[in-house]
Amino acid sequence: MINSLPILTFHSLDDSGSPISVAPDRFGRLMTALKAHGFHTVSLPDAVHWIRDRAALPERAIVITFDDGYESTYTIAYPTLRDLGFSAAVFLVTDHCGRMNNWPMPVARIPDLPMLTWDQVGEMGDSVFAFHAHTRTHPDLRGASTQRITDEALGSREAIEARTGRTADFFAYPFGHFDSRARLVVSRYFSGACGVTLDYATPASDVYALERIEMYYFSGRYTSAMFTSAVRDRYLSIRRFLRQLKTSP
Ligand SMILES: [Zn+2]
Repeated sequence: MINSLPILTFHSLDDSGSPISVAPDRFGRLMTALKAHGFHTVSLPDAVHWIRDRAALPERAIVITFDDGYESTYTIAYPTLRDLGFSAAVFLVTDHCGRMNNWPMPVARIPDLPMLTWDQVGEMGDSVFAFHAHTRTHPDLRGASTQRITDEALGSREAIEARTGRTADFFAYPFGHFDSRARLVVSRYFSGACGVTLDYATPASDVYALERIEMYYFSGRYTSAMFTSAVRDRYLSIRRFLRQLKTSP
């Protein structure tokens, strides 16, 4: 029985060096290394089954997620994962499909990037990716009304299900932010939800606030000194795990 599960988070795969970008070469090397080290991708439903029901997961299980649904999910991640036999979850900002990532952002230096079109979503949906909800317009849900949260979260789910014909019952909070009301509303309509707390998921995880590993933190632009003491040990532990993957299996 494994006792921790890495859930990796990617956004865009591009060479801009922005806070949402991982270089395509790095992504390819990491995926190849995971394969060489015997990792198996499992789904978010598998992860929740493991937490809630103590169901078994294979040794060296890992979950791969992509937030927002950038076009690079199609051009770069899709062929890479397909060739390795890996699967992943993509959290879509559904009103922005086929458009740009021009929702209000608190961080500067985010490039204007094209998003997946619904045609691309349809083309990829039967093999590599499971598509899940990340709201319609990517608002910070903290302080939002129940109706607004429902419209954003459930509206996103319904749009995906109408377009793909497949269940989209997992959610990722925009910016990783949520309050007790957002968590409550999401728990009514979804089987689980991802946050951005930097850690491994464990059998003790809240399935409506699953910990994840934001890969940008491990792009070489961060050092352990940039994390608070509360997070630093986890950061160093995850960095050791990722560095081990660079050695021969
Ligand atoms: Zn997002």
